[in-house]
Parts: sequence; C-alpha cells; structure tokens
Amino acid sequence: MPQPEPWLRGTLQEVPAVVRGVLHALELAKEDIELWCGPLSDEQLNAQSAGLPSVAFQLRHIVRSLDRLITYVESKQFNGVAKITEALRVEYYKLVKRILDEKDQVIDCYAGWVSAQIYANGTVWPCCVRADNLGNLRDHNYDFKEIWFGEKIREARRSIAAKECHCPLANASYTNMLHDIPTLTRVARKIMRRDVSPPAEAPACAAVESD
Ligand code: SF4
Repeated sequence: MPQPEPWLRGTLQEVPAVVRGVLHALELAKEDIELWCGPLSDEQLNAQSAGLPSVAFQLRHIVRSLDRLITYVESKQFNGVAKITEALRVEYYKLVKRILDEKDQVIDCYAGWVSAQIYANGTVWPCCVRADNLGNLRDHNYDFKEIWFGEKIREARRSIAAKECHCPLANASYTNMLHDIPTLTRVARKIMRRDVSPPAEAPACAAVESD
C-alpha cells in the first residue's frame, strides 16, 4: 500500500515549521522523481517522442517551471469561469515566487481563522505546514468548537498574525488571496480586460529541446 505524502507522515517534528514544509516538499519531489523516472534507462530518459522534449530535459529545467507555467497560462485566452480560475492561478504562481524569494508571508495568512486541517488521527492543525497540535477531536467528544475557541489556538493565531511563518501552501494561499484586496483587484482587472491582441508564444524552452 502506498505510504501517505511526506507532510502527512508526522515526520521532522523537531524541525521548525517553515523549514519542515520545505523539507517535506523536497522529499515529495524526490520521491515523485524516483517513482516515475527511477525505472527509466538512460536511453528512455533522453528519448524524444513526437518532437516533444525528453524527460531528462524536463528534469534539468524543473527549477524554472514556475516561470514557464506563468507564461503558459498568460499566453492562453480563456472565457467565463475559466478566465477567473486562470487569473487566480497566475496570481498564485506569482505569489509562490515572492514568498520563496522574500521568505515572508507577503500577504496575510488566515490559516487558523478561516481554515484548518484535521490529521488522520483527529488532531486539529491550523495548517499542515506548521502542524501546531491544537487538540484532538477524540479528546473533545468530536466537538470542533471546543478546539476552535479554545486556549491552544490563541498562541498559533498570534504567531501566524505576527508572520512568524511563511509558506506557499496552495490551499491556504488561495484562501488568503480571496481576502487580499490588491490581489482581487488585479484578478478583477484581468477578467474585465478585453483581449485584443493574439496570445503570446509560450517560452521556447517548454517546447524545443535546445540543450
Ligand atoms: S503562512 Fe499560513 S499556511 Fe503557511 S505555515 Fe504559516 S500559517 Fe501555515
């Protein structure tokens, strides 16, 4: 049976929350690469099929994937709901870059106020990156309110509001973006903008193997 993803295994509890999130992300990336690419021979890794870049090429360029994702999404023209989701997605990719560059929350995080996570054993966390133990539902007769309005969560909320942590966790980031006026303004502007020019080309390195 496959084991849960690293951030759900409860490992590295001795490491500070922010560093733990990064280590878990790296662990997951490493495990994914081993799972999907480990069994491939050198020949298979370097093979090109239907003119597409090889797996080896993609692995070498994985670090710049965020830039490529942003360019790719911005190069497309979307309508209706898709236009809204793509505008939010581009904002999220840009936010991830800023969080990693500036090592700061960048926009306020509302984990612990408007979202929470419940670990498989019943423990409530404000988010899976910090994984502060706010209490276990089994010890509170499954009454979430006791934990949500209890004592333990106050320190976690203080710490989060003081920006003592930062991370690009997607589910918290999307919630945070929906509470951030500048982000919503940019998304609204993008949705209302009429596209009159043809979409830009996606970056060449995503389609052409040149090195
Ligand atoms: S920034 Fe938010 S989601 Fe990230 S570690 Fe802090 S509380 Fe969790």
